[in-house]
Amino acid sequence: MTKTTTTDSQSQNLGDMPTNDFRRHTHQFVDWIADYFENIEQHAVLPDVAPGEIRAKIPTAPPLSGEPMENILPDVDRLIMPGMTHWNHPNFFAYFAITGSGPGLLGELLSGAFNINGMLWKTCPSATELEQVTMDWLRQMIGLPNNFAGIIYDTASISSLHAVAAAREQLTDLRIREEGLAGRADVPRLRLYISEQTHSSIEKAAIALGLGIAGVRQIPTDENFRMSSGALAEAIAEDRRRGWRPFCVVATVGTTSTTSIDPVPAIADICARENLWLHVDAAYGGAAAVVPEMRHLFDGCDRADSIVMNPHKWLFVPFDFSALYTRKPEVLRRAFSLVPEYLRTSQDNQVENLMDYGLQLGRRFRALKLWFVLRYFGWDGLAARIRAHIRLAQQFAGWVDSHPDFERMAPAPFSTVCFRAHPKTIEVEKLNLLNEQLLEAVNATREIFLSHTKLREQYVLRLAIGNLRTEERHVRRAWEIIQRQLEEIRLE
Ligand code: PLP
Repeated sequence: MTKTTTTDSQSQNLGDMPTNDFRRHTHQFVDWIADYFENIEQHAVLPDVAPGEIRAKIPTAPPLSGEPMENILPDVDRLIMPGMTHWNHPNFFAYFAITGSGPGLLGELLSGAFNINGMLWKTCPSATELEQVTMDWLRQMIGLPNNFAGIIYDTASISSLHAVAAAREQLTDLRIREEGLAGRADVPRLRLYISEQTHSSIEKAAIALGLGIAGVRQIPTDENFRMSSGALAEAIAEDRRRGWRPFCVVATVGTTSTTSIDPVPAIADICARENLWLHVDAAYGGAAAVVPEMRHLFDGCDRADSIVMNPHKWLFVPFDFSALYTRKPEVLRRAFSLVPEYLRTSQDNQVENLMDYGLQLGRRFRALKLWFVLRYFGWDGLAARIRAHIRLAQQFAGWVDSHPDFERMAPAPFSTVCFRAHPKTIEVEKLNLLNEQLLEAVNATREIFLSHTKLREQYVLRLAIGNLRTEERHVRRAWEIIQRQLEEIRLE
């Protein structure tokens, strides 16, 4: 393809792209995106590229002169599309399958256009106030009481980091904010409790907050991968005897591997008795709380000190968007508020400045995309979609359960199913290898994408449903492919 070179007017213009050009290109881009959505099934869900292949096609030197957009858009097709894993694809069943949505994307576009920095109320009153209102809508939708305040971060990892920092800040006698932790003989070792199924983000938070990996104690889980509350109580008692200072427990509603649900009411009792901060990680599962008949899975969450859920996982808000709720916003504020002179405003006594509630100063206008999604789909519409995903997952679980060569490896309370092939003629020691080969073969078709985990040393396949485009025919097709690939491996 011949490249158009920079026009004279482009090189002489010292401002932005002229608005007429912007209008023209945006229409073109939006058409491209709509076609992409419409024809998503013509793409393989997984790309067929070797490491380094995409990079090798892109110049290593930066462009010296500007290029017209006419040159750039075709390069998305030529250079970028070949290396795309299509998370928008209805056959994406790996990890936690997520989708953005039309209204969410429009919110994202508008937020990009405004390009505000919502660090202070004054730097964009609409961003602060829409965040407060939409986070309160979401709070009502997931059934948290009105003494919870919400704040938006980018990811659950960062939300949980802030929650653990607040838990640490609650130990006011240790003056950690003022004195730090390093080199202090007067501070006991702090202990945070998780289960062996907890997401790695909590250990990362412990690393970042100076607790170290040793400051995190993993509690065993029961046969359904739920934290044992008895073992938790014993571990806390033992740690206290040995001079540790327990300060926080992280329970999960919807663990990453199996979507198991920790016994939050029992854990909340322990936290109340022991005066520990309870953080609930409902990054994935939390979205299901908008479905009234699923609400019981969240019993006890109203007693948490903080809870995170990710609208970008299963509430159709485009990545990234994580919602942290806390009953103790003042503790979170105490942990992070530090206001230099140049950020003081005359409204400081009347408003919330959201920079006070986190590590980052600058904040995107993320609330717009949540606002659009909540208004466009409505509470009912969101609940109906999540309910449909749960129904499809239960259907898949039923097919696994009734097939003689497959077995389910964990309960499936949400829309993720853990299973493996287990033909009766194969020795148990060979099952891990067989399932590893099965996953390889299934994904090598590039027609569907599944991921795996290990549960008690057993290699397990995971099928997660969370995509707005996934229908029953896609799940049926996935099941056909899985069965066919197993047959082919066994014939080899
Ligand atoms: N918590 C749980 C339970 C998760 O499953 C995940 C990711 O899948 C996370 C936290 C981390 O999410 P994020 O990518 O938003 O940091």
